Amino acid sequence: MAGSRFLALLFPADCAICGTPLHTTSAVPLCPDCLTPSEPFAAEHCCARCRTPFLNSSPLDDQGLCSLCRLGLTEFDWSWSYALYEGRLRQLIHLFKYGRMRPLARVLGSWLANAYPRLEQFDAIVPLPLHWWKRMRRGFNQSDLLARELSCRVGVPVLNAARRCRRTATQASLTPAQRRDNVQGAFDVPAPARIRGLSLLLVDDVITTGSTVNACAKALKQAGAARVCVLTVARAGRQTDARLLSLSGKSKVGGGVTA
Ligand SMILES: [Zn+2]
Ligand SMILES: [Zn+2]
Repeated sequence: MAGSRFLALLFPADCAICGTPLHTTSAVPLCPDCLTPSEPFAAEHCCARCRTPFLNSSPLDDQGLCSLCRLGLTEFDWSWSYALYEGRLRQLIHLFKYGRMRPLARVLGSWLANAYPRLEQFDAIVPLPLHWWKRMRRGFNQSDLLARELSCRVGVPVLNAARRCRRTATQASLTPAQRRDNVQGAFDVPAPARIRGLSLLLVDDVITTGSTVNACAKALKQAGAARVCVLTVARAGRQTDARLLSLSGKSKVGGGVTA
């Protein structure tokens, strides 16, 4: 493995996304086109609180809130994303996380910095923690690398305040309701005194239903954080209202509205 990486550094390969032959060697085997920033996220209709984009205004109530926010997915104060989780950005994030292309943190981190809300005040950037087992298998926590890149660019320190105290199933294959149950109670804060009264920016690579960052934000708030906002590189679109309705039904059955 190390040998093949070494050879890849000596001899230019093809672009890992589009296959274009590369003329120079690099730690990141991608052509300039594939490393061009994606279109920054912009949607005409967004939830007034969590900023989830919609094609039209019908999922939003008269206060501009989406159904998840109406249901009380309200542990974090705001969320921002650099761009939509699609096309090339999606492929880059896959290569970063699953292809373990660690140097991509610098590229993705610079895009994350573009989306950083400069009018807001944060005391610390908190990476969304990975369970130690997953971190060991991947070799790194992608959110931690992104948080460090962002920190260098915006001058706000990184604070590893939260911990994943329980292993959870991968969220990707789960419905929104299952996702919420899956991550409930999965986070804790080992040293609450370090974050008491602070304004925190929670950083992750992708936000989908928001249930993972919501569970982490809940732990940070319970430990005394005054404010928890969320910044991700990409935002996955919520495909249909039917999927949201399944969460709505689950929430009524469970009776809880804060997870
Ligand atoms: Zn390419
Ligand atoms: Zn919302």
